Amino acid sequence: MTSEIISVGTELLLGSIINTDAAVLSERLASLGISCYRQTVVGDNEERLTEVLEEALKRVDIVFLSGGLGPTEDDLTKETVAKVMGLKLTEDAGSRKAIEEFFRKRGKTPTDNNWKQALVPEGAKVVENPEGTAPGIIVEKDGKRVILMPGPPNEFVPMLNNSITPYLREISDSVIYSQTVKICGVGESAVESAILDIIDNQDDPTVATYAKTGEVHIRVTSKAADEKTAKKTVKPVIKELKRRFGVYIYATDDDITLEQSIIDMLKVNDLTMTVAESCTGGMLASRLVGVPGASDVFKAGFITYSNKSKRKLLGVRGSTLDKFGAVSSKTAAEMAKGASSVAKAQVAVSITGIAGPDGGTDKKPVGLVYICCFLRGKSEVREYHFSGNRNKVRESAVAAALTLLRQTVLEDFSRKEFGDLSEK
Ligand code: ATP
Ligand code: MG
Repeated sequence: MTSEIISVGTELLLGSIINTDAAVLSERLASLGISCYRQTVVGDNEERLTEVLEEALKRVDIVFLSGGLGPTEDDLTKETVAKVMGLKLTEDAGSRKAIEEFFRKRGKTPTDNNWKQALVPEGAKVVENPEGTAPGIIVEKDGKRVILMPGPPNEFVPMLNNSITPYLREISDSVIYSQTVKICGVGESAVESAILDIIDNQDDPTVATYAKTGEVHIRVTSKAADEKTAKKTVKPVIKELKRRFGVYIYATDDDITLEQSIIDMLKVNDLTMTVAESCTGGMLASRLVGVPGASDVFKAGFITYSNKSKRKLLGVRGSTLDKFGAVSSKTAAEMAKGASSVAKAQVAVSITGIAGPDGGTDKKPVGLVYICCFLRGKSEVREYHFSGNRNKVRESAVAAALTLLRQTVLEDFSRKEFGDLSEK
């Protein structure tokens, strides 16, 4: 099955918004095994939309359209699709009811043009939109399918997940099954070289690596007639990856993030934690607190940006700061130890570094970051050199801190051994 995506919206053409809908949809299509041959962006213009739609319909089986389903004059996607496909628009009773309900719940009154959103091309499948008033629409005619979805991502994504994906699975003649092995603490090239033989010999399943900040994900994918067969093909490769990467793997589940795996690990070991951050200014705490249930293990976070706050809040010694500077392994160690004792948490992670763009020197260049993990009286401090802009350095520091935290707890507490794959 082949497809194209047409994203409708003048705002997209002007660059005022980013086409995240197309990105999310493309990724989904790939995972469903539906080839996507083109993405087109077109403004809210009937003539040009007609042109791209007619072309797309000549080329592929399914055309996805997003945006332009709203109640206003410039929203003309549905009207144009109906014209191109030679279908009349008729009112869908269910959609009218849904619109009434949507406004009633919010204590608001619909305006006249809202009812326009209940019009659908005759014979179309209507897809409910619990987050908004424009229903999704699926038109099937002459062996072609046109699928319309609202533009706002908070409506587009739930509709894609809850209705469109199951529909696509149903009409698809094959299934794609994939599983992701998520690794931290090993660089991308080290991961690649460790599985070069697997990558080189791949056919089914396919194996691909994706580098994220501080992490590498390996996705193993199989396409088969049914899910059972695809799963069976993926399984031995996952097993082999587990053998090769061992404790560096923090998850083999798509939904588990690094921070989630760490919170789970601390919970299992009955440990509590705290963080002391300088250049990351709360980013590490924010990632941890983003995990539901973090309160079971996360006790407090300190943002100690100035030297004074490092001394006052964490008890870092003035002499340490004078002699070694705020960005030093000694300061990082005292920050973590201080945080652990103030917050009464067994584990403490500290970050201090130079995020740039200014403030670097020859001895301490931008990107230099010290991270310490304090656990049971022992401090593990590491020095890092990150590249990129201010934000990239901060994000890399947070990822490295999570990785160090995970490794320290697993080594010291759970007696797991990390081999020679570790990033130096
Ligand atoms: P509405 O009922 O809000 O008018 P709509 O389906 O008509 O929805 P548009 O008018 O095209 O959609 O876009 C509404 C908003 O949705 C845009 O301002 C933008 O914020 C977001 N949006 C639209 N298309 C996309 C897209 N392709 N990717 C990301 N966001 C989008
Ligand atoms: Mg609109």
